[in-house]
Amino acid sequence: IRVTGAGAQQAAKAVAGAVRIGANECWTGPFPVAAQAAFKLVQEGNRYEPDNEHQKLFDAVAAVEGIPADRVTAWPGSSDPLSRVAVAYASPTRGIVTADPTYEAIWRTGDWLGAKVTKVPLTKDFAHDVKAMLAADPNAGVYYICSPNNPTGTITPIADIEWLANNKPKDAILVVDEAYIHWVDGPNAARLAATRDDVLILRTFSKLFGMAGMRLGLTFASPALMEKMMRYDGGQVTGMLPMTAVACGTASVGEAALIKARRAEMVAAREKSVSHLKAKGIKVIPGSQANMFMIDWGKKTAKEMQAALLAANVQIGRNWPIWPTVSRVSVGSMEEMEAFNAAVDKVWKA
Ligand code: PLP
Repeated sequence: IRVTGAGAQQAAKAVAGAVRIGANECWTGPFPVAAQAAFKLVQEGNRYEPDNEHQKLFDAVAAVEGIPADRVTAWPGSSDPLSRVAVAYASPTRGIVTADPTYEAIWRTGDWLGAKVTKVPLTKDFAHDVKAMLAADPNAGVYYICSPNNPTGTITPIADIEWLANNKPKDAILVVDEAYIHWVDGPNAARLAATRDDVLILRTFSKLFGMAGMRLGLTFASPALMEKMMRYDGGQVTGMLPMTAVACGTASVGEAALIKARRAEMVAAREKSVSHLKAKGIKVIPGSQANMFMIDWGKKTAKEMQAALLAANVQIGRNWPIWPTVSRVSVGSMEEMEAFNAAVDKVWKA
């Protein structure tokens, strides 16, 4: 069977000559120091694991996040552990609760499982409505919070995340997907996974670290929680990782100054486009703290605007069924966002 990617993979396909701001990728690659670390491992590619690369990654992450290293697990991206946690903890009798709109990968896993998937609209501030999420299915197996949320870029306060952790059924898992956390200048939820056995945090190197095609992600969770996610490969899951990606990630996580500089540069590019759109009277969903934002075109559908912008050589993102006139745009470099602004000027008739 030839498997063609739905959703994200399709949006990530190259269109010759177009500015690529459709798939929430980083506009540039790994930090040079990290790329060098990966290259060293290319040269040592004859060994499965030349020098304890996994442990070095776990120790580096544990030091940055302040969590025990035995609660860090690495994956080829965060998609696989996201599917696995659903397969392990949801079922036809224990559903999955998410926001709407949100990153929809877990909806598809839930459908495959035959688990009830309950989608709860975001609050008026575009946060997850944690009380409504619990009320909507008080006996779910998995509660999924994406913060910052894909596609709105908006965050859910840590106090609300904690409230859900404390009030959900004891044997349900709270999954907090922090794929975009590196753009947030504030607290993250990692410490919840440092002490609890019922919270799993997802991280990825596909976004700010510029490693989407290299494939590296992380989970923070207790060994007891992880055991059920690894039951079909006997805990050998880390054998699936290329050492190039592991070394690249290890060399990236501690680079606080580089992370901060990349974040600041992309936030400036994002805000330049947001101001440009607002000045034209185009509605932008407020509050993004990530490398994406959403535009409500109002009288045009998102699909029409996506096609019009593509004709002007700018590939923006998709829309979610709940909001047919709202497009997601990923943040590229300043130059790419200027090209986007110019393309909007060309195609938008107020
Ligand atoms: N979680 C969120 C919120 C995402 O937006 C994505 C990708 O866009 C993923 C997880 C999965 O990405 P990856 O498998 O590259 O880590």
